[in-house]
Amino acid sequence: MNAARASSGLFAPPDEPRCDACGFALVGLPEHGNCPECGAAYTPASARALCKPPTVTRALGYFAWPALSIAIAIAYVTARAATSRTESLDVFCVMLVLIPCSIAWLGWRTIRFTGAFKHEVLPRRVREGGGRGALGCLVEIFGALLFGGGIILTAAGLLLFAVCVADFASYGR
Ligand SMILES: [Zn+2]
Repeated sequence: MNAARASSGLFAPPDEPRCDACGFALVGLPEHGNCPECGAAYTPASARALCKPPTVTRALGYFAWPALSIAIAIAYVTARAATSRTESLDVFCVMLVLIPCSIAWLGWRTIRFTGAFKHEVLPRRVREGGGRGALGCLVEIFGALLFGGGIILTAAGLLLFAVCVADFASYGR
C-alpha cells in the first residue's frame, strides 16, 4: 500500500514522520510499526511520505505569476483605452491572446496545485472521504474550466488576431 508518491516538488518534505493514513505524528516511535492512532502499518518510507502543508505565502506565490500577467494585461488595455487608441494591433494582441493565455496558465496551476496537494499533503483517510475531498473536487473543476476555457479562447483569439493583422496589412496598402 506504500507505493512511492511521485513528488511534484511543490511542497516541502516533512519535518517529522507522520502516519500517511491519518496524519498522526509518529515521533519517538520505532521505524516500523502500527500507527497508535488508526492502526495502519507504517514504514520509514510511508512515515516520510506526507509533505508539509504549503504556507499561505508559498501558495499565493505559486498563483502570483499568472494573476500578475492577467492584471498587467487588463491595466495595459485600460491605459490604452484611456488614450483612445484601442484599435491597434498591440491592444488586440493583449486582449485576444495574452489574457486568454494567462487564464489558461492560471487554470493549469490550479489543477496542478490541487492535484499535488491531494496526493502529497493530505493523509489517505482525509483524501478518501469527507467534505475536503468535495471541496478539492470543486477547485479542480474550477481549474479545469479555466484551463479548458483559456485554451479555447486562446485558439479563437489567435485566429481573430490573425484576421486583425491581415486587416491592418490591407489598410497599409
Ligand atoms: Zn494513523
